[in-house]
Amino acid sequence: MRNILIVGGGLSGLEFALALQRHGECEITILEWGCDERVLHEKDDSSHHADDRRIRPWRSLGSGWGPGTGLKRRLGGRSLCWHGVVLPIESYALARWPPVWQQLLTKEGLYQLVTRRLRQQYPAVSPGEVTAAAYGLAAVPQAVSTLPRERVDETATRHSVYSPLHALDLSRVTLIMGARVNRVRRSSGAVLVDYTTSAGLQSQKADLCVLACGAIENARIYADSIGETFETKVTDHFCVGAVSRLSGAGAGLGEGQLIGYTQWADLRSNVFVQEQVSLSPTGARAIVDAWALVEQDREHGSLVQISPAASAGAFGSVTIQANISPEDRRRLLSVSRGLHDFTNRYPGADVAVGNLELQQEPAALEEVVTGVSDRAHYYIPLGAVDHEAGTLPMGETVGENLELTHMRGVYVLGASVFPASGAANPSLTVLCLSNWLARHVSEM
Ligand SMILES: Cc1cc2nc3c(=O)[nH]c(=O)nc-3n(C[C@H](O)[C@H](O)[C@H](O)COP(=O)(O)OP(=O)(O)OC[C@H]3O[C@@H](n4cnc5c(N)ncnc54)[C@H](O)[C@@H]3O)c2cc1C
Repeated sequence: MRNILIVGGGLSGLEFALALQRHGECEITILEWGCDERVLHEKDDSSHHADDRRIRPWRSLGSGWGPGTGLKRRLGGRSLCWHGVVLPIESYALARWPPVWQQLLTKEGLYQLVTRRLRQQYPAVSPGEVTAAAYGLAAVPQAVSTLPRERVDETATRHSVYSPLHALDLSRVTLIMGARVNRVRRSSGAVLVDYTTSAGLQSQKADLCVLACGAIENARIYADSIGETFETKVTDHFCVGAVSRLSGAGAGLGEGQLIGYTQWADLRSNVFVQEQVSLSPTGARAIVDAWALVEQDREHGSLVQISPAASAGAFGSVTIQANISPEDRRRLLSVSRGLHDFTNRYPGADVAVGNLELQQEPAALEEVVTGVSDRAHYYIPLGAVDHEAGTLPMGETVGENLELTHMRGVYVLGASVFPASGAANPSLTVLCLSNWLARHVSEM
């Protein structure tokens, strides 16, 4: 029986394991850096667990690459616990993918297959199409469901989001926790994976191995595996938003529910709309918050430089220099203007709060809304929305079959391999890649 080793027990690695189990018999081993607590992946779960702290195994030069994110070291990885948004990459971005992948995702139905499975489990949460249409928006496809009443405590409304962990048969998997992988190498026709635990440096042999550690850590493992300085690009979504007070109660949806979304393909953005109760000291009033996720071009992406580890048991050092190109700046300002108009036209909008300050460079907007009573616009720095991508893209370091071009038997999953991200949240495509690779290696 073949032995398949998965490095990283996050969304992409576990979805791959789950799909492998559907396809038949093989021995699966998962090496996961973190702990195995909180496997339910509930939305808005703020409870504290051991090893829950965000880890950023990289250094950011200057102010550009946001401090908000980092790896969640735990079985299940980062999951979809924002809103469980599952959107396909738009055709304008897919056009920059290899034709075979454009075909696989769309015409050959990978998007359809994965979406259908998710819909069976998670019929779209409210408000759904009727409310969204009343606001001229589309309903957001979400892999979220409300938890049964007995699981909801008095302090929070809890929703459960999709995680492959819910269906994975862990009794058929060898799980090695607290194991950070150093590097991968080939030896006598097999793949050898070196990893570090509290007991020191160890190795695991496999017929093939899959890197599924998130875009930046995947690139670090690659650099340590080839033992050379490695330079690549990383992209993230820009996020800009605008808020406005509402004169009435708004749509009256539950806290945290999305009204809907709209695509601005010409500005390579998706705009999401949510109403919230204002925290203003003058009393509870509804506000509308509209924010856009905007594509960052890989060509103008942020620079990642990795110096390989000095010795076998060490880890390479990763430096990120964020970049916002002049074209990106122009686009961000256009999106900002669009959001301003959108919030002013929004049903019941009272007044756009604060000054628009359109003449400012996007860098000057790098402050998240702190008080809705005096700020209209916000900008979230790059590297802060957990959508990093493109470090080992198909067509460069990775072939169309997701195998490293310089190391046979080593495959890469997750948004690392995206040649272009579009505006869509990455996870639906991440799930598709994992499902495809599981079928591919099962048929090999
Ligand atoms: C709060 C939040 C909400 C989100 N909501 C959405 C959403 O609604 N829609 C959407 O599309 N996306 C969403 N995302 C993004 C989504 O979580 C990521 O796209 C997805 O998790 C990426 O999957 P991954 O497997 O590549 O990485 P991860 O899920 O981060 O998994 C990587 C795993 O690898 C492990 N690891 C890392 N390095 C090593 C190593 N060297 N050795 C061993 N193990 C290692 C980590 O501990 C982790 O478990 C959200 C992210 C966050 C943080």
